[in-house]
Amino acid sequence: MSVLPFDQRDGFIWMNGTLVPWKDAKLHVLSHGLHYGSSVFEGERAYNGKIFKSTEHSQRFHKSAEILDFTIPYSVAELDAAKQLVVDKNGFKSCYVRPVAWRGSEMMAVAAQHATIHVAICVWDWPSMFDVNEKMRGIKLDIAEYRRPDPATAPCQSKAAGLYMICTISKHRAERKGYADAMMLDWQGRVAECTGANIFFTKGGVIHTPIADCFLDGITRRTVIGLAKARGIEVVERRIMPEELATMDECFICGTGAEVTPVSEVGPYKFTPGKISLTLIEDYTAAVNA
Ligand code: PMP
Repeated sequence: MSVLPFDQRDGFIWMNGTLVPWKDAKLHVLSHGLHYGSSVFEGERAYNGKIFKSTEHSQRFHKSAEILDFTIPYSVAELDAAKQLVVDKNGFKSCYVRPVAWRGSEMMAVAAQHATIHVAICVWDWPSMFDVNEKMRGIKLDIAEYRRPDPATAPCQSKAAGLYMICTISKHRAERKGYADAMMLDWQGRVAECTGANIFFTKGGVIHTPIADCFLDGITRRTVIGLAKARGIEVVERRIMPEELATMDECFICGTGAEVTPVSEVGPYKFTPGKISLTLIEDYTAAVNA
């Protein structure tokens, strides 16, 4: 890998209210967020210098923290302004935007009621999550061994760092087998989502997608549902069992990173990227650039 490590880049990172030189944006090894997973983050994209759905992301960032029993010490408006400042200050027009919040070092045990909440906002160049040629042919997905946890077991509506542990393991296993990513089932064995994106299917011109009650109801997911409905395409949110994939025509995933990406295989099931996927790619591209 010849990618420049993320701690060795140039530019500015916003940290606890001020812009600091990129290489100085450090935290101590004794940070609660690192040891106990008390960290939440966002993933956003700027297009033409403007962050798509910035306020929705800032609101979700607040909600993610509240679910983990802490409060982000900056308002949604302050976060929106800080994110735009970081994009501008680093000279990006199109980039990925990563706000992250974590509990600090005042307490180092399970309880951390009095630990300071730290917030950083970083930006970097990230053109496409998947190889562009592969993307248009449709990516191949493994079916993950790990399942999305029962909402009674984990704070599944929080974009909490700790929930990504099973995603990284699943994505690594998928990549080692030659897949681009993995589709995860939920705790009851129903189709859920991918390791960092939501999933959709089409059947006879109708879109089917799992109900987002035990995994992240993505901002892109909601955008895509709106775009499809605006085209007069029916969207059904329902329980989908993996065996049903044999009857589906198209499959695509969506998320801030993945944008709208067609899928050609999920484990043993095959799909041909078609008209609905391509229409939504076009409509999503138009929406983010509007
Ligand atoms: N699910 C997971 C697990 C994710 O990490 C993401 C990316 N944030 C999504 C879904 C899609 O969410 P969004 O469209 O808000 O980026």
